Amino acid sequence: MESGLYVVATPIGNLGDITSRALAVLTAADIVAAEDTRHTARLLQHFSITATLLAYHEHSGERAQARILECIAAGGVVALVSDAGTPLISDPGYRLVRDAQDAGHRVIPLPGPCAAIAALSASGLPTDRFLFEGFLPAKAGARARRLQDLAAESATLVFYEAPHRVAETLQDMVTAFGDQREALLARELSKTFETLKRAPLVDLAGFVAADSNQQRGEIVLAVSGQRGRDEALTPDVTRMLLRLAEELPAKRASAVVADLTGLRKKALYDYLLGQKG
Ligand code: SAM
Repeated sequence: MESGLYVVATPIGNLGDITSRALAVLTAADIVAAEDTRHTARLLQHFSITATLLAYHEHSGERAQARILECIAAGGVVALVSDAGTPLISDPGYRLVRDAQDAGHRVIPLPGPCAAIAALSASGLPTDRFLFEGFLPAKAGARARRLQDLAAESATLVFYEAPHRVAETLQDMVTAFGDQREALLARELSKTFETLKRAPLVDLAGFVAADSNQQRGEIVLAVSGQRGRDEALTPDVTRMLLRLAEELPAKRASAVVADLTGLRKKALYDYLLGQKG
């Protein structure tokens, strides 16, 4: 196997999601650099892999990084893993990847599980553009300000959230984004109690507040971006809508365009009525 730093995605719950390439690299690695060596030891044990584990996280310091770079410089293979999912996505590794590249080493990504992408893929929210925000600030004031800053963003927003804060955060989102933005709760993805629920923000906040089970486990929140009248009804969309309305009743034309674009049917219908008026 070619020498380098392999950035290896690992399962976010269901161990069946490990890739065969991940297993091959973890087996061949001279060092497996792990956020939590005990956690990764259990993963490796499950797949009967014996490897030299090295702690690599925010506080592991220069020495761990130096050892990794020396190993690669000597022709070795280092696998970087985090506790779950894709390393560097709200997880350690940024400085190591940069420094390895700057030292002229190959950095090879092994694609695989990522909670944000899994949640988005089954969200039913627009995925043509999205903004990954990771964890919001833990302090209420800073969190409210961050959400306010995002209120006009038109891309779908994706957040990681801790279970003990999810109810409060959803309430803050209602305040910042309004009642009716569509949002998703994706909980315990790929695990026994997997839950995916899409609803207007106010309903989702109510659903979570009313059921303490929804405030457990690992959670991704996604919120559709602001789709203002001006931004949404681009010339391409209105041209398509008007042309379809020549062939179909206004309601039907609006429904077809809503289906194709993800825009709200009512906004399209109102536009057509305005044109007729
Ligand atoms: N690097 C990881 C990835 O690729 O998804 C994310 C690491 S971050 C420290 C951990 C957060 O990811 C959790 O607090 C939760 O928000 C989200 N997460 C991880 N596993 C999840 C799962 N099975 N279901 C839902 N969210 C999950």
